Amino acid sequence: MDLTLTAEHAALRSLAADWVDREVAPHAAAWDRAESVDRGVVKRLGELGLLGLTIPEELGGSGGDHLAYCLVLEELGRGDSSVRGLVSVSLGLVAKPIAAYGTPEQHERWLPGLCAGELLGCFGLTEPGTGSDAGSLATRAVRDGDGWTVHGSKLFITNGTWADVVLLFARTGEPGPRGVTAFLVPTDTPGLVRREIHGKLGLRGQPTAELVLDGVRLPDGARLGEVGQGFRIAMSTLDKGRMSVAAGCVGIAQGCLDAAVAYARQRTQFGRPIAGFQLVQQLLARIAVDTAAARLLVWQVADLVDRHEPYATQASMAKLFASEAAVRCANDALQVFGGYGYIDEYPVGKYLRDARVTTLYEGTSQIQQLLIGRALTGVSAFV
Ligand code: FAD
Repeated sequence: MDLTLTAEHAALRSLAADWVDREVAPHAAAWDRAESVDRGVVKRLGELGLLGLTIPEELGGSGGDHLAYCLVLEELGRGDSSVRGLVSVSLGLVAKPIAAYGTPEQHERWLPGLCAGELLGCFGLTEPGTGSDAGSLATRAVRDGDGWTVHGSKLFITNGTWADVVLLFARTGEPGPRGVTAFLVPTDTPGLVRREIHGKLGLRGQPTAELVLDGVRLPDGARLGEVGQGFRIAMSTLDKGRMSVAAGCVGIAQGCLDAAVAYARQRTQFGRPIAGFQLVQQLLARIAVDTAAARLLVWQVADLVDRHEPYATQASMAKLFASEAAVRCANDALQVFGGYGYIDEYPVGKYLRDARVTTLYEGTSQIQQLLIGRALTGVSAFV
């Protein structure tokens, strides 16, 4: 793996970092308290080209490779994980599978708007009764003339109440993963009701919703990919999604490191900066090593994706390590801040709350370990 960033990568990273430092980080605490980022952020992300990364320019995107994508997500994660999540979902979990599996009509209808930040997407896989075992999902789409009628519900859907389109996974056939089909559902379709979920521990600036589908009628042209291909589309999408969550976690870890080092240098106890105490340096060293190791794992996945090599197991490894590392780093950083870390005047408490969900969504840490174990042994613990 060549670790040297090109001039283009470095320029993109600094564009994202500057924007985050000017327009995101200064507002993150207020957005967290208000339980909503400024919705104008979506349009700004589009104007900056950050919602079209890795989508070919001829489809309305801004191009770029997956290392570029990860560099940007790291900066967004450093600034506000709620903003990072908007991008990971709308671009990573919706626009990218549309680009990969969509028809020319679907490309034209959705991609220019999603990449420009004029439209937002959400990813509807999880249901009240199926999380880790997504292949057992119960939402059902039944053939109805030349279209489909859908009944069911989806839970914990990021961007749910803001989105213009849902990438929805529904059962069209046999029980299990092979009976699942993907659909693109405009959110103004009659029969689709969205309810916002409040009271999250972290990611409070980002909308999370329950979706209820009660007789939603769809034309066959809303189907993404083939009948029965939905679970494969979901899993291949989540493989890259895990890389993007991991990249966001590197940003959290880096933010924790920057904040903890700065605080340790200026806070004095026993007549000298706490940075001079060996046990504080131990905390800082642990955060620094976790951050660097997580970043290398993320860059390794991005490099594999960009070289069209298999990357799913490395994506699980990066997601597992980076998410657990982000929680550790935020916890260690909070320790460096002492009691001040426990109030929201400083960023580390929010980093800890935002980091916590990353070991849960897009496959829990347990699920990542089972995926890695299956790749190592050839034996599946899922069946
Ligand atoms: P469960 O699957 O019930 O798991 C509970 C516990 O059991 C976990 O510790 C898990 O690791 C463990 N477990 C389960 N199976 C096994 C096993 N075989 N071996 C060992 N341990 C096991 N979903 C979407 O579709 N779209 C979204 O946009 C989205 N956004 C989200 C945003 C937030 C803030 C949250 C909290 C969730 C979001 N999710 C979304 C859902 C998320 O992906 C699920 O919560 C996650 O997959 C886990 O499912 P679950 O919560 O049902 O937990």
